[in-house]
Amino acid sequence: MKPDFDFVVAGTGAGGAAAAARLAEGGARVAVLEPGPRATPQPDGTRAVALYYANAGLTAGFGNGLFPVAVGRTVGGTTTINSGTCLRPPIDAVARWERTIPGFDAAAFRADVEDVWRTLRVKTVPAERAGASTQLLFRGLERLGVSGAHYLDRAEDGCAGDGRCCFVCPSGAKATAASAFLEPALKTGNVELKAGWRLVEAIPARRGGLAGARVAGPNGERRTLGARGVILACGSLATPYFLRRIGASAGDGLTIHPAAKVFARFDETVEGWRGVPQAGGFLDPEAPRLRFEGAFVPPEMAPLTIPLEGRRLRAWIEAYANVASFGFLVRDAGRGSVLHPVGADMPFIRYTLADEDLRLMTRGMRTVARAYLAAGARKVLLPLNRPDNEIETPRALDAFDWESVRAAELQLMGFHPLGTAGLGRVVGSDLAAAPGVYVCDGSVVPESLGVNPQVTIYAFALGLARRLLGGRA
Ligand SMILES: Cc1cc2nc3c(=O)[nH]c(=O)nc-3n(C[C@H](O)[C@H](O)[C@H](O)COP(=O)(O)OP(=O)(O)OC[C@H]3O[C@@H](n4cnc5c(N)ncnc54)[C@H](O)[C@@H]3O)c2cc1C
Ligand code: SF4
Repeated sequence: MKPDFDFVVAGTGAGGAAAAARLAEGGARVAVLEPGPRATPQPDGTRAVALYYANAGLTAGFGNGLFPVAVGRTVGGTTTINSGTCLRPPIDAVARWERTIPGFDAAAFRADVEDVWRTLRVKTVPAERAGASTQLLFRGLERLGVSGAHYLDRAEDGCAGDGRCCFVCPSGAKATAASAFLEPALKTGNVELKAGWRLVEAIPARRGGLAGARVAGPNGERRTLGARGVILACGSLATPYFLRRIGASAGDGLTIHPAAKVFARFDETVEGWRGVPQAGGFLDPEAPRLRFEGAFVPPEMAPLTIPLEGRRLRAWIEAYANVASFGFLVRDAGRGSVLHPVGADMPFIRYTLADEDLRLMTRGMRTVARAYLAAGARKVLLPLNRPDNEIETPRALDAFDWESVRAAELQLMGFHPLGTAGLGRVVGSDLAAAPGVYVCDGSVVPESLGVNPQVTIYAFALGLARRLLGGRA
């Protein structure tokens, strides 16, 4: 039987778009499925969340706390609503994969990382484009004698600092899976983007025959596409659903990089929504699993992220022009899992924040709070859902009962779900889950990375495409 396509790729995020693009450039005919809409800039961030975040941003994990986990559902996947920050995968992790995962070619992987870096046109944020929120944090760190604060590398070309990266970049300057990979690939004529279509089931190849993809269209129409290979790139929260249906034991090993941010109120005007929200970062030399990165949401999103209610919330919202914020994430020791009792689109997530991660979270909030107070903040607001979360002096910060903080009190979020079909556990170094069925998205990342993961995921996808083309690309 003649295949409908050489490959069917499910998902247009970091993994799916990059794999599809390189396969198409190598001459393969590729169908790309994407159930989410094409994103257009929205003047109101809440609207962008409703339209382009999966489940309108309400996906969450349950365990020893409530842990929201954000992913995109739009052309370009989560990259369309991400901050654009680029970090290479940690050297220690890549060395470990080379040692422990048979067939993992670290040299080829590193070359793919550099390929991604070039394709995304990665550049360091210029100081003048970093918002005042970041500048104030850097000022506080300097006063405390903490060194190592630096501007981050980001995927962009012509970023004007409009401050809305996570709600669809208004200028199109941010390089996404759509702009950097999918759109150029569409120009080859080898890619058919099936917008509004989703994967329903992946069918492994039998006895050297074709693999298949059962797909559903926007009006409920159903088809089965035959192909040499079906590539699952639906993201760490959805891909395990399809893997389990073909007998693979996916869904465990979920890491999320628990993340939170501290708000600080200044007398001076901050207008933190101007400039690149995630412009700067630093590491804590005594806690290398903790990574600090800028985070600031536009005013209309503030009520959803400030851990207060009633009069106290109103006071922070009314003073939002004088508010700064900065975030941090943890390379998690804790693990979770994902199940799908009602289908691929409704992940049921379990996640347990490990005690050591809880301690790192409190260390992170203390560090940011101390820096903002040193920079002159009148008050800081800790990401804790408890009444004593506003602190006015370094002395009060030191006197705070950190040991009493429980996981359930944290206002945290996971922006980087990874590992639910880990390389070396569920898939081998060829990223094959079954004959003719491959995986390339965040689910294959074998461990908590501790760095923002898009570059790593893109690199896995480029490697898969090269292998499927038989080394031709
Ligand atoms: C707010 C936010 C900010 C972030 N900032 C950064 C950052 O600055 N730097 C960084 O490195 N990372 C960042 N990330 C994370 C990063 O963007 C993601 O880890 C990465 O995009 C994940 O790639 P993926 O291919 O695994 O999945 P995704 O990019 O999530 O793509 C999965 C795609 O599959 C589609 N899909 C789902 N179900 C189906 C189906 N049944 N059939 C077909 N398609 C389907 C989805 O609609 C989606 O388009 C951020 C994440 C968030 C939420
Ligand atoms: S800061 Fe503005 S221009 Fe730059 S990527 Fe973000 S939204 Fe786009």
